[in-house]
Amino acid sequence: MKLVCIGRNYSDHAKELGNAIPGEPVVFLKPESALIPNGGPITLPSFSSDIHHEIELVYSIIRKNGKAQADKVSIGLDLTARSLQLALKEGGLPWEKAKAFDGSAYVADAFVALESFPKGHHIDFMLKKNGHVAQSGHSGQTLFDVATLIATVERYMTLQPDDLLFTGTPAGVGLIAAGDRLEGYMLGELLFDLKVEKAPSKR
Ligand code: ZN
Repeated sequence: MKLVCIGRNYSDHAKELGNAIPGEPVVFLKPESALIPNGGPITLPSFSSDIHHEIELVYSIIRKNGKAQADKVSIGLDLTARSLQLALKEGGLPWEKAKAFDGSAYVADAFVALESFPKGHHIDFMLKKNGHVAQSGHSGQTLFDVATLIATVERYMTLQPDDLLFTGTPAGVGLIAAGDRLEGYMLGELLFDLKVEKAPSKR
């Protein structure tokens, strides 16, 4: 199973980081080892004190008649070591150290079947940090819809059943620190409630 992630899919977030609006989806990967166990906690990595939250809609992939498609949706966190990512970007280097580290991804365990939504329905989601809304958005705000994302990814790599597609984050990304509480909502329902813990002590 792999986590396929999309960057810069909300123009307001691309702008807040000073990134150009992409002409084609930005694609990167996280390994399965990046996943935080269900219920958390989020454990900060020892190599960075600049970890940002990004809440995202996450779609689970199935294959039907030889074609990949999304069948269910939930929310997750794409945790990012921001200053390290900026340094890697400036150096023209891959992002994995900043995006694919252990504990850099969370996916809520409750998924909703896409067929339960009327056509054109916008799926809204929100992240609260310490009780205050930090990020909110809906699926209608993306630059590229899910079908376009899947078609783009599949030009380069096969999507397999149970792969997860992170579809980018709206504006409002920000620092997390030990002691913070992150609550994720989709369609008004609380789907995750995670505590942030400090990095393991260095040896
Ligand atoms: Zn992201």
